[in-house]
Amino acid sequence: MATAAETSRAVLPLSGGEPGATVALYPFLSAECQAPPAWFQRAEGRLAPLKALGIGVSRRDYQTIPIVCFLIVHPGAGPVLVDTGLHPSVAVDPRQNLGRLGAQLFGGIDMEPSQATPAQLRALGIEPDEVTTILMTHMHLDHASAISEFPAATFLLSLREWRAATGPRSALHGYVRGQFDHAFDYRTLDFDRGADSFASFGQSFDIFGDESVRVVSTPGHTDGHMSVIARLRAREVLLAGDAIYTLRTLRESHLPARCEDEHRFRRSLREIQMYAEQTPDALIVPGHDIDAWRALEPVYE
Ligand SMILES: [Zn+2]
Repeated sequence: MATAAETSRAVLPLSGGEPGATVALYPFLSAECQAPPAWFQRAEGRLAPLKALGIGVSRRDYQTIPIVCFLIVHPGAGPVLVDTGLHPSVAVDPRQNLGRLGAQLFGGIDMEPSQATPAQLRALGIEPDEVTTILMTHMHLDHASAISEFPAATFLLSLREWRAATGPRSALHGYVRGQFDHAFDYRTLDFDRGADSFASFGQSFDIFGDESVRVVSTPGHTDGHMSVIARLRAREVLLAGDAIYTLRTLRESHLPARCEDEHRFRRSLREIQMYAEQTPDALIVPGHDIDAWRALEPVYE
C-alpha cells in the first residue's frame, strides 16, 4: 500500500534493561461498549454468524465489553505501553477515528475524555512523550486507535501483523489504516527468525534483555498477534490480548465467532492454557472480559 508508515527490523534488546528488574503494571480502561455476546463466544446453529453481528439480537441481550490498554513501568527503560487504547476523539465522535463501520461495531461506546491514554498517563505524572516503547499485541482498530498520540515512541509489533494490517483488503480484517499511517518509528519482530521458546510458548523475544518483559507469539486472532509476559516482584502477568477475549475461552476452549486462522488460534490457546497450568500463580488478563477486568487491582508491583 502507499503509506507514510514504514518499518525497520527491531534490534533487541532495547536499552534500559537491568539484571533482575521487575516492573509495575497499571491496567487502563479506555472505554466500555455494548456488543453482541456471540461475537465473543461463538453461538451454535445456522444463525450463529448473524447473531455474532447482533442481527436478530435484542439490545437488552448485549454485553458490556471493556476496551483496554496497559502501562508497564520498568525501572531502567521507563514507561512502556501495551496497546494504545482509544483515541481521545472517540469520547466525542467515534466515527472520526474508528470509521463508520468500526463505530457501529463498538456500539454505545461509553468513554470519558479522562479515560484517553494520554490523560491517564498524565494522572500518574507521566507525559505521553516519556513513553518510548509501545508493544502492539495487534493492530485492530480498538488497540491501534490512539497511535497518533505517541509520535515520540518506538512501536514494536510482529512482522506478520504489519503485513496483515497494511495488506490488501485490511479494512475487512479489522484494521483502520488512518490510525497508523504516520511516519512513526515502527519496528517489526520476526518470530520465525531468532525467537526463543519461553515456558510453554514456542516463540518469544526478551525485550530489554533482562527477562522483565517478553513478547510471545500467539497468532490466530490475527495473523501476527502477540501477547506480553511481564515479571512483577512476586509473580508473572500474561497480558493475553485478544488471543483470549475471555477467561471462558481459557477455561473451556470456547472459541469466538471469528478467528483469522482457527488452527493457529487453537494452537496459541493451547500454549496459553499450558502456561496457566504450569504457572498457577500468574495473573492472566484476557482482552475483552468485563468480569475479569473488574476484578483487577489499579496497580500491580
Ligand atoms: Zn480487541
